[in-house]
Amino acid sequence: CGIVGVLGSHEAAPILVESLKRLEYRGYDSAGIATVNDGVLDRRRAVGKLVNLSDLLVHDPLAGKSGIGHTRWATHGGPSVTNAHPHQAGDVAVVHNGIIENFRELREELAGLGVNFHTETDTETIALLTAHYLDHGMSPVDAAAKTLSRLDGAFALAFLFSGEDDLMIGARKGSPLAVGHGEGEMYLGSDAIALSPMTDKITYLEDGDWVILTRNSCEIRDADGQSVTREMRTIRIDA
Ligand code: GLU
Repeated sequence: CGIVGVLGSHEAAPILVESLKRLEYRGYDSAGIATVNDGVLDRRRAVGKLVNLSDLLVHDPLAGKSGIGHTRWATHGGPSVTNAHPHQAGDVAVVHNGIIENFRELREELAGLGVNFHTETDTETIALLTAHYLDHGMSPVDAAAKTLSRLDGAFALAFLFSGEDDLMIGARKGSPLAVGHGEGEMYLGSDAIALSPMTDKITYLEDGDWVILTRNSCEIRDADGQSVTREMRTIRIDA
């Protein structure tokens, strides 16, 4: 299972699928991508091999130069299109690797506020929680920060928002996530191998870190919300 993300200058969908292929070695049961195109967030998902997602994209393309992608290894809710990531709620789409331990409590809290669930996954709770904070007037960065502060468990996450073609947020706790730096482009990936066709300039996030990315900026914050500096390395991968 793996995560990729791109804020690029070319169509994101083929780049995302190609990067996900480089994470296939981790195993997965379904896959999906979301893009934001002129502010409009949309997604495509398919069960089984990545070729099923590629085929779907041929018939039903997804435009946009910003996007996130995911290969899923189901832990909560069986492999199905509905349970596949990205999970989209209101103005946010989320991909997640890992397990949210307290999702039942969060789900009950949201259900008490009248929020409806459509999947059996722990991940949908993250999307619904973030959408809830956005609906209450929080900025995408504040809504993501507030959501992260509520999550127990292990995660690598990427968030994409409607109306925000130049914003992607990543976070990691217990699962790996790296930032790739391009020329006026920015990437997220579970590892450097996923990003190696695009860039060899990699910053590994440390546990508890989250990152606010635009095409020309990368601001990393720690679990307390303090801005932190993490080393950028050049990682050469011959493959
Ligand atoms: N727990 C999440 C799910 O079952 C993410 C699984 C994964 O790491 O791919 O949807």
